[in-house]
Amino acid sequence: MRHINYIVALIIFAALQACSAKAEKTSAPAAKFEERGHFSADSAYAYTARQVDFGPRTPGSAAHDACAAWLEESLRSFGADTVMTLRSTATAWDGSSIPVRNIFARFNPGATTRILLTAHYDTRPWADHESDPDRHHTPIDGANDGASGVGVLLEIARNLGLNTPEIGVDILLNDCEDSGSPAFADAQGDTEDTWCLGTQHFAANLPYSAVDRPRFGILLDMVGGRDARFHKEYFSAMRAPAETAKIWSMAAKLGLGDKFPAQVGGAITDDHLPLLDAGIPTVDIIENQNAVTGSFNPTWHTLDDNMDNIDRTSLDAVGRVVLNIIYYEKI
Ligand SMILES: [Zn+2]
Repeated sequence: MRHINYIVALIIFAALQACSAKAEKTSAPAAKFEERGHFSADSAYAYTARQVDFGPRTPGSAAHDACAAWLEESLRSFGADTVMTLRSTATAWDGSSIPVRNIFARFNPGATTRILLTAHYDTRPWADHESDPDRHHTPIDGANDGASGVGVLLEIARNLGLNTPEIGVDILLNDCEDSGSPAFADAQGDTEDTWCLGTQHFAANLPYSAVDRPRFGILLDMVGGRDARFHKEYFSAMRAPAETAKIWSMAAKLGLGDKFPAQVGGAITDDHLPLLDAGIPTVDIIENQNAVTGSFNPTWHTLDDNMDNIDRTSLDAVGRVVLNIIYYEKI
């Protein structure tokens, strides 16, 4: 994923946010909130480490294949009712062909009220944000950028297998998010559509009828960074405002408002955009350190994106918020 600059729109939006934040201060304190689910940060951390142990999950590599097989097996072992492998081929930024293997699991498939959770499991083939150009062509571990979101979703899947929610939940572990045009390529023109290739394919071939389309979606990306803060991602706040408000409100109820500041951060090209375009209001929970300007973890697209820089408290905060959104969602 990458940042986009929409400075003017962001400033206007931030001003509106400031006004609404002032109004919220007068409301009465909420009663004690009953947390649901048993999210284990240690399990999410272990599932993150397990992916990294395969090696960089560059699309088409043996490590990627082995990791995909392990993810499918894990989802089955947690009690997913169906686990589908959705294979296709996409065209990469340089015109080459790239294999796509999306993994799609369903819990409580009979429920027509559904939500969709997604995270990418592929990793970036290049460390193109390293300061040393000699390192640019080395694939990254992707502990945060890739594995962390999937690690949290696996721990959520484990919970769903133990305690069936009222609604149906679909989990899409999407592929080829992070093979977008590298910084060293000097690409001409618009390269936005070179990212999120797996989700683009999924959105163009939605496995839903009009009856069971997801009510909304949640995307997790880079949710394990040290001291991560999750300001609202710009496109999510603009295009899925009610769902974004619901998620940040849940964070506040859980006492996690410091990690989920209720202001808008940066605008990011990520897997929520193809889903939004397909009519599924989807919210991107992604490290977004500052209001208005956003900004990722400094390890982003570098060789420092490894397990040494994964923070259990970040995994924990995101996992608990999403799990409670699921268990509190009514049919
Ligand atoms: Zn990335």
